[in-house]
Amino acid sequence: MAIYDPKSLKAEEFINDEEIQATLQYADENKNNLALIDEIIEKAKLRKGISHREASVLLACEDEAKMQEIFALAEQIKKDFYGDRIVMFAPLYLSNYCVNGCVYCPYHAKNKHICRKKLTQEEVKAEVIALQDMGHKRLAIESGEDPVNNPIEYILECIDTIYSIKHKNGAIRRVNVNIAATTVENYKKLHDAGIGTYILFQETYHKKSYEELHPTGPKHNYAYHTEAMDRAMEGGIDDVGLGVLFGLELYRYELAGLLMHAEHLEAVHGVGPHTISVPRIQPADDIDPEDFDNGIDDDTFAKLIAIIRIAVPYTGMIISTRESAKVRERALRLGISQISGGSRTSVGGYVEEEKEEDNSAQFDVSDRRTLDEVVRWLMELGYIPSFCTACYREGRTGDRFMALCKSGQIQNCCHPNALMTLEEYLVDYASPETRAIGEKVIAEQLNNIPKEKVRAIAAKYIEEIKNDGKRDFRF
Ligand code: SF4
Ligand code: SF4
Repeated sequence: MAIYDPKSLKAEEFINDEEIQATLQYADENKNNLALIDEIIEKAKLRKGISHREASVLLACEDEAKMQEIFALAEQIKKDFYGDRIVMFAPLYLSNYCVNGCVYCPYHAKNKHICRKKLTQEEVKAEVIALQDMGHKRLAIESGEDPVNNPIEYILECIDTIYSIKHKNGAIRRVNVNIAATTVENYKKLHDAGIGTYILFQETYHKKSYEELHPTGPKHNYAYHTEAMDRAMEGGIDDVGLGVLFGLELYRYELAGLLMHAEHLEAVHGVGPHTISVPRIQPADDIDPEDFDNGIDDDTFAKLIAIIRIAVPYTGMIISTRESAKVRERALRLGISQISGGSRTSVGGYVEEEKEEDNSAQFDVSDRRTLDEVVRWLMELGYIPSFCTACYREGRTGDRFMALCKSGQIQNCCHPNALMTLEEYLVDYASPETRAIGEKVIAEQLNNIPKEKVRAIAAKYIEEIKNDGKRDFRF
């Protein structure tokens, strides 16, 4: 039997079923233990995180007053670490050819009626121009797993193409990559291609369910998939993004697994996950969320987000357009720091609107607003939409990024960078209405830069963006 060991490189030892079962039992036994819950909340207030066991107790807690305390703390931690900034990104689907059999995804190999597409380099270029014209600077590329149609060389070629396109004032400054688990050698190649974060969703940490949900294809191998982040880090990728697909398994199991994975990365590599995504199962071509028994309602979803926020305060949290504007609004308050906007989840969807009979989308988008509408909405809610990609480009990745984060110094970069990149967006892409709101936000928020010197430089750069056509300043 596998023994729990966060430092082990074996999946079944660092994501250990026995430990998760014991954690859930401990959480159940203590869900009304208010003294312990208070102790955990006090620990969380130190803003250094809490363990998977402690987080599981909070998740099991049903005491309304304590829950409100947890929500308030999550909001406060969110504010302390991320201010009012929300980082913007968009997904770019390269290919939906896939050899895997994931039962929750319409790209599964047996789906014979979905339209299969793979972008040519010309098409990648056209998609990227469309994304740049919306104002995006940060992409997450997505592709199915298919060694013949989408080999690593194809992905690398696409990354090269994406970075090379300079259309008007546009540029994609950070390409995050969400592709199947692969070898150390391939991760090295991705690293050398200058990717930002490597993102791979675990889908579920429950091994037996995992194997049932992935009946065929290379993804069936639980250990290979679960150990992918270790290989990515061995290949030199500093920033990795975790996530589970909520709805596949019991959410309490998933939270414990997710946090154990984060603890494992910290124990072995000295740096936890750069981001955590929180997708929930959504309808798609031949996928009906009703077929899955473990769906979570909006309140449970909010609770999960709040608890992840206080468990790993330094980790960015991502929510996609799978969720409605209403759900996203609540999630933003409780901990989400990055959102997508104006997304298309089909291959080639930015150039050509998806036709019903031509469906190639991975999931249905709930939030169908344009990027301009999302940016305006964020500002109306009091947020600063940020198109910043500075850290990665200044070499602040992995432990260097985390060290800066933990010292609190990141605040002196993020805030001015958010304002400068927002100004670029307003000048180059925003509608007049959005621009008017944005200019007001920037003028007000400039006063909130603590260091006088930084404030003066940021104000000068913003004027230069506005009046002299200059771009790409960063701290
Ligand atoms: S989830 Fe990924 S690996 Fe699975 S079928 Fe969909 S695209 Fe393929
Ligand atoms: S300065 Fe770094 S941490 Fe802050 S928003 Fe920009 S890229 Fe993110």
